[in-house]
Amino acid sequence: MIPEQGVVVMVCSTVKAGTECAFMAKEGCGYSGGTCLPVVEQCEGCQRAAEFPTGKFCSSYPNPAIKWKAGNCNFATHTKLEVQDKQKINPLKASKRNNKKK
Ligand code: SF4
Repeated sequence: MIPEQGVVVMVCSTVKAGTECAFMAKEGCGYSGGTCLPVVEQCEGCQRAAEFPTGKFCSSYPNPAIKWKAGNCNFATHTKLEVQDKQKINPLKASKRNNKKK
């Protein structure tokens, strides 16, 4: 808790005990189900996955399975976006270029 700045940071008292958490409140964990869920198979190798006495959990998101439901997790540190370095080709100019070669 930082009273001078008016910011209240709550610390987890459930599965990730001791870590700061935005879902934590005076009444307890405010996340659905009242606790974080463990990492999933796809999280293997991610630097945000952390080991706790209660298991392995994501330090950024309470339910890792949801992050992988519609594709790659956008927080993941072990996956890279494939950057396509394709040059735009003007079909008319390409056709002219091909005709010159003949
Ligand atoms: S950031 Fe994504 S991939 Fe990494 S542990 Fe969390 S949910 Fe899993």
